[in-house]
Amino acid sequence: MGLARVLQRIEQAARQAGRDPAAVKLVAVTKGHTVEEIRRHVLEHGHSTLGESRVQEALPKMAELGGVEWHFIGPLQRNKAKFVLDFALVHSVDSLRLAQALDLKAREKGKVLPVLAEVNVGREPQKHGFLEEELPEAVAQLRDLSGLELRGLMTVAPYTEDPETVRPVFAQLSRLADRYALPERSMGMSGDLEVAVQEGATIVRVGTAIFEPD
Ligand SMILES: *Cc1c(COP(=O)(O)O)cnc(C)c1O
Repeated sequence: MGLARVLQRIEQAARQAGRDPAAVKLVAVTKGHTVEEIRRHVLEHGHSTLGESRVQEALPKMAELGGVEWHFIGPLQRNKAKFVLDFALVHSVDSLRLAQALDLKAREKGKVLPVLAEVNVGREPQKHGFLEEELPEAVAQLRDLSGLELRGLMTVAPYTEDPETVRPVFAQLSRLADRYALPERSMGMSGDLEVAVQEGATIVRVGTAIFEPD
């Protein structure tokens, strides 16, 4: 079964690296899946930490499914900031302007929104996120926004057939998180989660491997 297999992969990778498997949180990415599929593949197996990458798709699911810890993991337009205030964690803060919009909306609602800063470690032109050299300024500014709580860093590694090729990307995200004393590292997906866990992921975001047919 997809979810059980993914949890097993996380556990095995953690043990190989001498890490506690409980220190790695699985966000089940539910984009493209119906609430029935989500119930059947995830919730009914006792897992209730879910991630969505689009506001329009997330809102109806949030309304329908109770008792879920929702994570927002996709690119976000500033004018949609007000729609992500009920997420447990926004992984994809990729610009100061977005951070400022989220901060404003959070403060208006009397909330402190937990966020991660997305880092384009692989320096891919088409990818979102801060470049490494922008981080000192970005981290300082994010920490100054009282409506946000900066908890860590997130990256989407370059696409690859061989996960070993992205090990340096994950290792670098961990080093950056250490440098800024940030506890959370959100990295690793269906194809490369073992390498991410070995390199210190505290959160992995997995969709395909959970929902694939048995
Ligand atoms: C879809 C998505 C994932 C999950 O990817 P899979 O390869 O399906 O496991 C992880 N992170 C982000 C940002 C995504 O959009």
